[in-house]
Amino acid sequence: MSLIVHKYGGTSMGSIERIQNVARRVAKWHAAGHQVVVVPSAMSGETNRLLGLAKELSPQPDGRELDMLAATGEQASSALLAMALQAQGVGARSYTGWQVPVRTDSAYTKARIRSIDDARIRADLDAGRVVIVTGFQGIDDDGHITTLGRGGSDTSAVAVAAALNAQECLIFTDVDGVYTTDPRVVPEARRMRVVSFEEMLEMASLGSKVLQIRAVEFAGKFRVPVRVLSSLTDPLIPLDEEMTSGTLITFEEDQKMESAVVSGIAFSRDEAKMTLLAVPDTPGVAYSILGPVAAANIDIDMIVQNQSVRGTTDFSFTVNRNDYHRTLELLKNQVAPSVGAQEVVADNEVCKVSIVGIGMRSHVGVASLMFRTLSEEGINIQMISTSEIKTSVVINDKYMELAVRALHKAFGLDQEASAVGEASA
Ligand code: ADP
Ligand code: ASP
Ligand code: MG
Repeated sequence: MSLIVHKYGGTSMGSIERIQNVARRVAKWHAAGHQVVVVPSAMSGETNRLLGLAKELSPQPDGRELDMLAATGEQASSALLAMALQAQGVGARSYTGWQVPVRTDSAYTKARIRSIDDARIRADLDAGRVVIVTGFQGIDDDGHITTLGRGGSDTSAVAVAAALNAQECLIFTDVDGVYTTDPRVVPEARRMRVVSFEEMLEMASLGSKVLQIRAVEFAGKFRVPVRVLSSLTDPLIPLDEEMTSGTLITFEEDQKMESAVVSGIAFSRDEAKMTLLAVPDTPGVAYSILGPVAAANIDIDMIVQNQSVRGTTDFSFTVNRNDYHRTLELLKNQVAPSVGAQEVVADNEVCKVSIVGIGMRSHVGVASLMFRTLSEEGINIQMISTSEIKTSVVINDKYMELAVRALHKAFGLDQEASAVGEASA
């Protein structure tokens, strides 16, 4: 008998029929003798609906109240799942984040989990019940409800699995695993049977929404085996078949993985590019520009400072598109006057496209194949950033899908073996 955590996303919980199917699947695992903890998301569309209501009242609603509101989506779906299980004759009990409690810091709408008390969960498991813990939420030291950021139920599930030392955390979703890129954008994308932890971390951080980045971080920190698999198969498929389906995130890099130069392509539209033109280039200029941005709690991603010409330089960086207006105001009103920049220009119609692969460590020419492919499509690269296992470019967002498709093909990701030869030539 082992302890398994299941997580079901919004689509998987999207209707009463789907919730009944989730209950059937969970009941199957329970009947096979496993202890099961389930972490559900809100029913699909519910979180957006709630946040939309808030926006009707205020353009920037209070974070505390937003979290009070958004957390209800998961409370509802969790209670419904408990009822569905009970209706199928399975003992089940649901808990909100604050009942467990899942303790977080106080950063409303993007809180981080600090600890999870396992006592109540264990007592129910020992009594033979299925335990349901709401995803996406927790409680801070002052007793306020917090939420973990969009997609945060993934993180709740992996954190619960870590706290309980679960044998595996199964992330059930509306695709049957992690693909070489989003299969909704590139129909030729292929499912990976395994993906290395490092690659998954990069893909998640670069925009692949299949797993929230913090879920991957938790998996790495606590060595939680995580598998991404479909919730849309027949819920009664044999357990051993289900246990080997989908994509496993692995902490071991085998030979075969090394041979794929590029394993996946990630992209993100949540980008905005800010540029200060003709900034007098003196020591400390980067700090004078980025210091106030960081102090305003705005995350900075890529940074490019040009060669200075006659004592001035152009300075660009990217931020999340949600922070576009705030950053622009700050640059225009505060930063540009203080550093003596001539002009501020900003663009929120950009996106970031990235190629990811641990094989990039040992192959040359990978980035140049990326640049060649984009130039053949007539796509202008605005910014570039590289690390050991990824290369990212910022481009106009109207070319995003074209770029992703062209790169997917150029790196041979739609075929069984990847284009090792071409990239290293
Ligand atoms: P859930 O509600 O189950 O959490 P999400 O919508 O958050 O589901 O994540 C699953 C979606 O992630 C898929 O439907 C797919 O469109 C998208 N996705 C993006 N990149 C990938 C990828 N590399 N592999 C699989 N799915 C991906
Ligand atoms: N319901 C939350 C969201 O939509 C959390 C999640 O689905 O993971 O972001
Ligand atoms: Mg999700």
